[in-house]
Amino acid sequence: MLRDAVRSLAEAKIAPYAAAVDEEARFPREALDALTANDLHAVHVPESYGGAGADALATVIVIEEVARVCASSSLIPAVNKLGSLPVILSGSEELKKKYLGPLAKGDAMFSYCLSEPDAGSDAAGMKTKAVRDGDFYVLNGVKRWITNAGESEFYTVMAVTDPEKRSKGISAFVVEKSDEGVSFGAPEKKLGIKGSPTREVYLDNVRIPADRMIGAEGTGFATAMKTLDHTRITIAAQALGIAQGALDYAKGYVKERKQFGKPVADFQGIQFMLADMAMKIEAARQLTYAAAAKSERVAAGGGEGDLTFQGAAAKCFASDVAMEVTTDAVQLLGGYGYTRDYPVERMMRDAKITQIYEGTNQVQRIVMARNLP
Ligand SMILES: Cc1cc2nc3c(=O)[nH]c(=O)nc-3n(C[C@H](O)[C@H](O)[C@H](O)COP(=O)(O)OP(=O)(O)OC[C@H]3O[C@@H](n4cnc5c(N)ncnc54)[C@H](O)[C@@H]3O)c2cc1C
Repeated sequence: MLRDAVRSLAEAKIAPYAAAVDEEARFPREALDALTANDLHAVHVPESYGGAGADALATVIVIEEVARVCASSSLIPAVNKLGSLPVILSGSEELKKKYLGPLAKGDAMFSYCLSEPDAGSDAAGMKTKAVRDGDFYVLNGVKRWITNAGESEFYTVMAVTDPEKRSKGISAFVVEKSDEGVSFGAPEKKLGIKGSPTREVYLDNVRIPADRMIGAEGTGFATAMKTLDHTRITIAAQALGIAQGALDYAKGYVKERKQFGKPVADFQGIQFMLADMAMKIEAARQLTYAAAAKSERVAAGGGEGDLTFQGAAAKCFASDVAMEVTTDAVQLLGGYGYTRDYPVERMMRDAKITQIYEGTNQVQRIVMARNLP
């Protein structure tokens, strides 16, 4: 029922704008409005904080169905989870009440600020600092590649509180857009997900109350990594949705397109491509849903188990599948697939990012190798 409801909404209210959002590289405002009106913008927020209380699998299905028509728009529910999960996992009751309520209501979005210009895969090498000053912390630094920067009201920011301790000297904070000293860089000009704003976040003597720290001092990096264990599964869902959208489009196209006097779908070479695409998508879906079920059990207190492996495997596998399937979808449309008159070239460009963010697929393989089941 959830899938049907999100699919109908996505096709009616999000799909019609997907090409324009990409072409004009503008924020998908229509998608945000439609998702918020239907309580789908941040479904993961627990009911006790005014949210829809969707479990990890339901969240994945929402993201998958939105990504099927517009990958940029799927980053609204996905990054709302990414940005707020540190608060849900490690924040004080006060922080949860203060920040999850507005998120659930649709009054505020949440972003996640880990990466920096010189600290990507090696995120623990960050330079942003938070220095204690009485009942306050003062933050200085530059966060890079921040999804929905400028649009979000709230930012989970990882910053160094003890430079001697490397990853154990990193703490997490909630920073608000309206805090003095917060500003944003120009939007990045990207290959894909052009509707999703990616900007630098500048922190210039941002003075925030000490109780905005998420968890204890020095636990920020651990919280950031624990968050990714859960949210890489949402990127897998995004990849899955993009791939399914490309397959669905290509499947319809090959039945219509005639060459040599018959639909190209009648050629076995084309049928085998479609079969492979569908097979890979289904394998990615099973891995993603199993990881989501694992994520839910862990969130409910069921122990870490092999969630770290599962999250990395789902993200890595599904994103590689998305890249292969969208490339094949362009192939199935021939020359037409290579133009912006058809959606599959956008899907191919959008798929590429899923192999890069929340840790590149090389990093996922490092994570898997360190956590072999
Ligand atoms: C559109 C977009 C949105 C993003 N959104 C966010 C966000 O909201 N919040 C956030 O914090 N970050 C975000 N990121 C950042 C993203 O997570 C990083 O770009 C990513 O982790 C890679 O870091 P890097 O770009 O610095 O690449 P680098 O770390 O410089 O890597 C360069 C290459 O080296 C490889 N490499 C690095 N180390 C190793 C190793 N040990 N072994 C093998 N290969 C290695 C990488 O896989 C890659 O191929 C976003 C990025 C983009 C492009």
